Formats: sequence, structure tokens, C-alpha cells
Amino acid sequence: MSFIGRVREINIQVSSILQEFVISSLPVKIEDIAKGLGLKVIPYAFEEDISGTLIIEKKVIGFNQTESRVRRRFTIAHELGHYILHQNKKAIFLDKLFRLNNTSDEQNPELEMEANIFAASILMPEKMLKSEVENIEFDLGNDEAIKYLARIFDVSSMAMYYRLLNLNLITPH
Ligand SMILES: [Zn+2]
Repeated sequence: MSFIGRVREINIQVSSILQEFVISSLPVKIEDIAKGLGLKVIPYAFEEDISGTLIIEKKVIGFNQTESRVRRRFTIAHELGHYILHQNKKAIFLDKLFRLNNTSDEQNPELEMEANIFAASILMPEKMLKSEVENIEFDLGNDEAIKYLARIFDVSSMAMYYRLLNLNLITPH
């Protein structure tokens, strides 16, 4: 399947989850969604740069308890993405999400990209983001605007920047 087709499929999966859990307020309660889908969400004392894991058979998402809240939220969303999209691909996912040079899984870069797209889409739902953007009082190209939106969605400014870019709501700066 083409990349565009795959992105569309991920968006359909995310929309159906958002509807199922009647997500209408922000920030999206990602941990509750994962638990609602039957997963256990557990803090782990990982060594150094491991951000999270997904153990399919045990239905466990583990996140690095030492990372910041926005990172933990992104990790949970990313692992949930593997669970929804890639259950039949691997038994265990182990992620190093926030290294500068992200090499979470050198053998399966497309799985990592898909899980990241899933995470961004579920934490920053397109419709809800567009409606916040419509109501925003300052210029979207401004870093303050990105920080403001990042706070509302409880994500990092970097994650928000790339989401806005991918939705063509801003141009690179
Ligand atoms: Zn991953």
C-alpha cells in the first residue's frame, strides 16, 4: 500500500477509537484509552534511553518512568499504535523514541514511522487541533503559539510543530 494510503488507514483507525471513547475534551486521556482497549500501562525503571515497550502477549505497555509527562504520553500513544497496527508483525516492541538519532528499530523503520503517525494523530486529533487553531489569537508561525497549543494538547512543542507542519497548517521555519 502507498504511504498516503497507509496514513489514511491510520487516520481511520484513530477516528474510530476517538469515537468509541467519546473523546471530546483535551488533553486526550491516552492512558485511559489504552486501558479501555484492554492494555495494562506500567511504569518501568528502564536503563538509559529506552522510552517504552509493548509486549503483545501480555497486553502490556511499559513506559520509562523517568521521562517527562509529555514524553510518557507520546510513548504510550506510540506503543498503542504498534498494538493497533502491528500486532501480527512482532511479539515485543522496544523503543528508543527520543534519541536525537532515532534508531528505535533499524529493521522496521516503516513500522516506527506508522506508530509515530498514530501517536501524533491520536494525541492531536485533526479536527480538534484545527478548531483550536481557528480560535487562536496569535500568529501560528510564532513559537509562542506552538507552545500554547502544545500545552492544550499536553504534547511537546516539537511534536506540535511537526503535527502542524504535516497538516499544512504552518510552513517550515
Ligand atoms: Zn516503536
